[in-house]
Amino acid sequence: MRPCALDTPVLLLNRSYAALRIITARRAFTLLCKSLAEVVHVEGEDTATTFSNYDFGQWLEVSAIQHELEPAAHDWVRTVQLSIAVPRVIRLLEYDRLPRFQVRLSRRTIFERDGHQCQYCKRHFRTGDLSVDHVVPRARGGGDSWENLVTACVRCNAAKGDRTPSEAGMPLARAPKRPAPDSVLNNGSMSRGKAGRREPRYAAWRMFLPQGR
Ligand SMILES: [Zn+2]
Repeated sequence: MRPCALDTPVLLLNRSYAALRIITARRAFTLLCKSLAEVVHVEGEDTATTFSNYDFGQWLEVSAIQHELEPAAHDWVRTVQLSIAVPRVIRLLEYDRLPRFQVRLSRRTIFERDGHQCQYCKRHFRTGDLSVDHVVPRARGGGDSWENLVTACVRCNAAKGDRTPSEAGMPLARAPKRPAPDSVLNNGSMSRGKAGRREPRYAAWRMFLPQGR
């Protein structure tokens, strides 16, 4: 399946140009539309790198020009009337921290937190073979929370039934916790470059991210 341009990663900077984290293009456009952020467009190569700042209206104009001149240099979000380039970097205008983007509690995010690993038998499964288990069963007052929901394969879930892990003799691989908000360094900001060195995923990120981790 072709990835959607709105899922393209965008580097988010704070007002002082420090890297905060990687967000999706979808979220980046939301911040731009609300004038909470501006585009930081990096131009040039290596030593001659510069950047320009654009608000969303200006970015639409830049996009129109880029679409003519350098269509291959960007990912594109298409609307009925125009094509908008996905910015690689945006910068928050008002806050130095993001207004809390907590990870939403869902089947998908629970599976991701647990690395698609059944927390009882410790084996890895595809999404279709996984289920969400209430550590303290719902019937016994266990709620829907990060601390009470874990990834379980269908078999372990059935075997555990309406019991707690200790009653069932099925200890958890690890204590379930709320995941930390995505950090810049752990969610896809770096990739393996030449010679296996870890480097920022896009050239435009180089000037804002630590090198060679
Ligand atoms: Zn299992």
